Amino acid sequence: MNPPHLAIAIDGPVASGKTTVARRLADRLNLLYLDTGAMYRALANVALHTGTDVDNEPAIARLLETHRIEVGLDRTAPLGFRISVDGVELAERTLQSSEVTAIVSTIAAHPRVREAMVHEQRRIAAAGDVVMAGRDIGTVVLPGAPVKIFLTASVRSRVARRRTQLAAAGVDVDEHRLFEEIEERDRLDRSRAVSPLVTAPDAHIVDSSDQSVDQTVDELVTIVERQRAGGV
Ligand code: C5P
Repeated sequence: MNPPHLAIAIDGPVASGKTTVARRLADRLNLLYLDTGAMYRALANVALHTGTDVDNEPAIARLLETHRIEVGLDRTAPLGFRISVDGVELAERTLQSSEVTAIVSTIAAHPRVREAMVHEQRRIAAAGDVVMAGRDIGTVVLPGAPVKIFLTASVRSRVARRRTQLAAAGVDVDEHRLFEEIEERDRLDRSRAVSPLVTAPDAHIVDSSDQSVDQTVDELVTIVERQRAGGV
């Protein structure tokens, strides 16, 4: 299935730099941008507020019927896109809170949740050119995407980046806890039964450990341009 529009899929583990790089790449190429993790985080936030048992798949899936999670692609928005629940826009601080982070991977492992999210993500990609970041974009959401990137980085640099990212969002977490959080979420994301985090066979693997954001974005622009020119 090839999306009718240009889609750039960027997948990778926790704090590999996906969102920063994807957003900057979208700006450079004048494309829209969506971090799909925010959709799972928005649902996790609803589960928190409604006191829903995160292990109860039918109850979590029902939240998608009783609450309206809406995404709007808007590069001028603070996150680079907008996400709201029942008409109320969510801020990065809410999406990145420790409470949301602690449960999001459990919620994202439920097949019924994934089915609904993937459906919405495909609808968004069918509407326009987009850079989409996540865990399963190149493998499940947009397997026909012409450009797929799998972004990796050493655990050391991922811990440092996540700390900076959280500090910017006003969330303070110590380094040891961050390390544990990253390992645990990676384990859950890689081991779940439905669409686990894996590298698409046709993805370009980019290791950003020793690169600045600009260097990584430059590398990705080169990959996209080569692809557009008909290369591999
Ligand atoms: O990217 P971020 O860390 O914000 O994603 C939060 C969680 O949402 C991930 O740990 C993963 O469990 C889930 N997720 C997913 N599929 C995606 C994006 C995120 O399962 N496409």
